[in-house]
Amino acid sequence: MLNGCMMDDYQLNLSYVLERAGSLFHRNEIVTRNADGSLFRYTYGDYYGRTKQLSNALKRLGVKEGDRVATLCWNHHRHLEAYLAIPAMGAVLHTLNLRLHPSDLTYIARHAEDTVIIADRSLLPLLEQFKGDLPSLRHVVVIPDDGPTPAGYLDYEQLIAAESNQFDYPRLDERTAAAMCYTSGTTGNPKGVLYSHRSAMLHSMAVTMTDTLAVGENDAILPVVPMFHANAWGLPYAAVLTGAKMVFPGPNLQPEVLLDLMAREKVTLAAGVPTIWLGILALLDANPGKWDLSSVRTMVIGGSAAPPAMIDGFKRRHNLIVTHAWGMTETSPIGSLARVKHHMADAPHEEKLKVWSTQGFSVPFVETRHVDEEGKVLPWDGETMGELQVRGPWVAASYYNNSEQADRFTPDGWFKTGDIVTINADGYLTITDRSKDVIKSGGEWISTVALENAIMSHPAVLEAAVFAAVHPKWDERPLAAVVFKPGQSATKDELRAHLEPHFAKFWLPDDFVVLDAIPKTSVGKFQKIKLREQYGDYLVKQA
Ligand code: ADP
Repeated sequence: MLNGCMMDDYQLNLSYVLERAGSLFHRNEIVTRNADGSLFRYTYGDYYGRTKQLSNALKRLGVKEGDRVATLCWNHHRHLEAYLAIPAMGAVLHTLNLRLHPSDLTYIARHAEDTVIIADRSLLPLLEQFKGDLPSLRHVVVIPDDGPTPAGYLDYEQLIAAESNQFDYPRLDERTAAAMCYTSGTTGNPKGVLYSHRSAMLHSMAVTMTDTLAVGENDAILPVVPMFHANAWGLPYAAVLTGAKMVFPGPNLQPEVLLDLMAREKVTLAAGVPTIWLGILALLDANPGKWDLSSVRTMVIGGSAAPPAMIDGFKRRHNLIVTHAWGMTETSPIGSLARVKHHMADAPHEEKLKVWSTQGFSVPFVETRHVDEEGKVLPWDGETMGELQVRGPWVAASYYNNSEQADRFTPDGWFKTGDIVTINADGYLTITDRSKDVIKSGGEWISTVALENAIMSHPAVLEAAVFAAVHPKWDERPLAAVVFKPGQSATKDELRAHLEPHFAKFWLPDDFVVLDAIPKTSVGKFQKIKLREQYGDYLVKQA
């Protein structure tokens, strides 16, 4: 073999991201909306020094390379300091999901063997319910987000104030673990995904590419997606790498608050799950022209399927462009996103909407295929449904210390996503379901995603989730849970008539239940498992 003559031993380290921001972008801003509505702002220059102070403080607390240091925090600038201070020194940032039940957090923090937890003061009531069950825990550091740190805890600000703002970070092997995140584990225990410096750096580069999210120095980025949900989709690292302004929403994620922040801070890119954006769209529709959102170049929506009616409503009524993205905690998370390709540049809006409503095609370095139940690779014909498998440099190769889940990884090096998709000839993926949500009625698959997208295109509907209800004859039949917009409603017959032109008769939901709200998961997705628990026997009872 003839080797290339390049610096192939140059190791991709996250500390580089911090050093770059400190030396090149020290004037650029980072803003946090505090719980009381006030705004905190400082520069990347301030951020750089404080992040190094935090690394020094953690070192003084005894944190060593490989130790897991957890955060239990909202989205704010101090969380961003932890995002780099911990991996840069060779320790592992473990973001804990503050919406989980204390028993899940106990399992997760014990499994990860967290040694230090950095927690917001406002979340101490949660932390206090599980910190006593963590044998590995040595210190809790409290961020005084909503008042002074209580006695008996280390205070974040006091701790770092005593430290130097210089830290000569080690040159780490790029395969060194940098961060970890647990998936929700709706079946079985949560599973840990352990990112490396290399995977985080390559993912950040991908986030900056023009054909993906094009994050750059001119951006002002608002991650509504929590920093404990798959690294806020990689936006924080991409922002520090490029010096993009960061705008953090803190704990308050009300649509009104987010819109105020987007307008005031001239946000260019905001990201979150569809349920957040459904609320925002409803508020914009009710108050046209109230907010100047002319700075916004796109809203990245993913985590579950973005309803086409929402994508259409944002574009047509408010001239706002949605970038529909697909990903998983296991894929760092960005796997694909819905871009209209060049040959469709002049296509009519309706044709583009169809493309924007897919989960898009894979981003560079992520490969996709779909397979049948025997593992046979299926054709890209836009019709044949199968399980999506992916591989690439920021896709998990195994779960952390978990041999039970080894069958999620194929012998030929692919990760089984558990998502059921079709792929068309241009490589666009359409997710029809997660395998655990699929409805099998008399042996035929019915796509819950397609049905709920269609129900959510009814003008009176705010949210809809379709799920499997047990049926005496057909095993399972679709049942729809519907939430109407304030002051609006529709009859079941009207909803059925709205769906009829688009689906085969046997696809139509057997019934509709009207709810005040659809139960949501810890990251804001429709919680179909809850709906199945509550309404799974609804049709049997009615029969
Ligand atoms: P959790 O398992 O807690 O929901 P993840 O965010 O890792 O955590 O979930 C990943 C899953 O979310 C994917 O496997 C897929 O089912 C779903 N998902 C993500 N993005 C989309 C999207 N754009 N459309 C439909 N489903 C999506």
